[in-house]
Amino acid sequence: MKLTDYKVDKKAVKKSAKRIAGNEIIADFYRQLYTETAREKHLNRAESVCGCFQLWDIDHYRKQGIKDIKRINLCKDKFCLNCQNVQSKRRYTKYKPVLDDLMTERDIYHIVFTVPNCDGKELLGTLDRMYTKFPYIVRYFGGERKCNGIDFRSYGYIGAVRGLEITTKATKGKQVEYHPHFHCLFVLHKKGVNGKRKHINDFSYHNGKLRRKFTDFEILLQKTWYLFYNDQRLTADVVNSLQQGYSVTVDRANGNYKEVFKYAVKGSFKDGAIFNYDVFETLYYALHRRKVLQGYGVLNKYDFETVAEAEVEKVYAEILAELRKIEDPEKQLLTLQEICAELEHDDITYISKNAIRRELLHNDA
Ligand SMILES: [Zn+2]
Repeated sequence: MKLTDYKVDKKAVKKSAKRIAGNEIIADFYRQLYTETAREKHLNRAESVCGCFQLWDIDHYRKQGIKDIKRINLCKDKFCLNCQNVQSKRRYTKYKPVLDDLMTERDIYHIVFTVPNCDGKELLGTLDRMYTKFPYIVRYFGGERKCNGIDFRSYGYIGAVRGLEITTKATKGKQVEYHPHFHCLFVLHKKGVNGKRKHINDFSYHNGKLRRKFTDFEILLQKTWYLFYNDQRLTADVVNSLQQGYSVTVDRANGNYKEVFKYAVKGSFKDGAIFNYDVFETLYYALHRRKVLQGYGVLNKYDFETVAEAEVEKVYAEILAELRKIEDPEKQLLTLQEICAELEHDDITYISKNAIRRELLHNDA
C-alpha cells in the first residue's frame, strides 16, 4: 500500500472551485422563488448553495505533510454544478464494476428514448407521462407483459438502468424549448440485437443531413415507445401499420456508460449558470421529488454499497493506522480560499476516503 496511490488530485479541486462560480446566480434564483412563494426553505437553500464547497474539515498530520479531508460542506442542490458532478461520479463508480462484470456474459446497450420537444408549461406533464410509461418497456422485455407476434423475451433482457436528461434550447425572441429524454443501459443477450441499419426516417436527419439509419430493433422500439406514450395498444398489427414512432437509438455501450449517469440539467447551463429565472423555475418544479436514476431487474436488486465500501473502509483504516504511528492529527477548519492558496505548495499531500474509493474501483470518471 502506497499512500500516494490514493492522493487527491489537486487539479480536480481547482476544477470544482470553478464549478461553483455560478452558485451565486442559483442562490439568487432561490431568493426570487422565496419572494414568490414565501416558503422559508427556499431562503435556506439559497444560503447553502452559496456556502457549497467553502468549508473543509481537515486532519493535519504536520510532520508527514499529509492532510486528510474528512468533510467538505456540500449543498447537494440539483442545480449546483459541483454537487451534481460529485453525484454523477458517485453513481458511475457504483455501477461501473457491476456493468463491467455483467459484460463478460452479456452485451450492454445504450438506448436513448426521446419524445417531441415541449415548452415550459408542458414540461412537468411530459415528464410525468414519460415516467409512467417507461416501465412498460421494461415489463415487455422482462416478460411480465406479452405481445402476440412480437417476442421481447428473445433479446435476453435481465436488467436496465434509466437516467433522465433535460436539455434546453433558448433562441432569442422565441419560447424556450425543452428536450427531455432518457439515457438507458439495457443488459441483453450477447449479440442480442445485431442487425443491419437499413431504415431511414425523420430521426435519421440532423440539420438536414442524413446521419443515421436504423435497425429493425430500433424501429420496433421507436414505435413501441410511441404507442405506450400515447396510450395506444401494442399489437404486431398496430406496429406494422404505424408509419413512425418517436426517436429511439440503440448502440452497444462497450463500457462507455457516462451519458446515463450525467446530471439531469447539465444541458440547461450556459457559461456555468442556468439560462434565466423562468428556466430555473420550470426545471425546479419539473424535477421536484423526481428520481433521476432508476434501476430495473438485476440493476435494481444489486446490493452495490456493501461490496465496495468494506474494502474502502479497510484501506482507509490501514492508512490512518500508519499515519498515527508517527503523530496524532491536528484538526483544522479551512476555507476554500485557504485550500486554494495551499494547493500551490507541493509539500502537502491531500488524501480522502473518496480518493481511495475512486482508486480502488478504477473509476476513470
Ligand atoms: Zn453544491
